[in-house]
Amino acid sequence: MKALKYLAGYPQQVQARVHDLIEQGRLGDLLANKYGQAHTVRSDSLLRNYVQAMKDRHLRKSVPLGKVIYDSKLQVMKHALGTHTAISRVQGDKLKASREIRIATVFRDAPAEFLKMIVVHELAHLREFEHNKSFYQLCTHMEPGYHQLEFDLRLYLTQREIAQP
Ligand SMILES: [Zn+2]
Repeated sequence: MKALKYLAGYPQQVQARVHDLIEQGRLGDLLANKYGQAHTVRSDSLLRNYVQAMKDRHLRKSVPLGKVIYDSKLQVMKHALGTHTAISRVQGDKLKASREIRIATVFRDAPAEFLKMIVVHELAHLREFEHNKSFYQLCTHMEPGYHQLEFDLRLYLTQREIAQP
């Protein structure tokens, strides 16, 4: 069985089930049916408004936002989903001033739900550096379906690589 890098942290039986869906050629349709809705947040300035609005709703008292941009150099796995460290997050004095949020460009074309999920993730990092319990509590406070969305995002990224290797 080919390793599924986006799902490496999930149990073997989950990975096996996903592998079956891929073998049967069903993963793409399944995701398209569930997440058919594109979003209109197509530019950096629209992204900034979007992030700011969500921050105002949920984290008004946290540090002000710095630059908010789509970044084509960001690798989703390395920077957005689980492997970044506290060191890269804690920026010394900058911590008190304002915080930059970079969103991988793949989310510009991704379904609306996944953009929301990754923005929730990055906003939660304004308060919590690590992926710890409080971090995920904050995520689910902002988006109750957070865990399902993160899992489905991993499916989406897996499918995307299969479709365009
Ligand atoms: Zn993170």
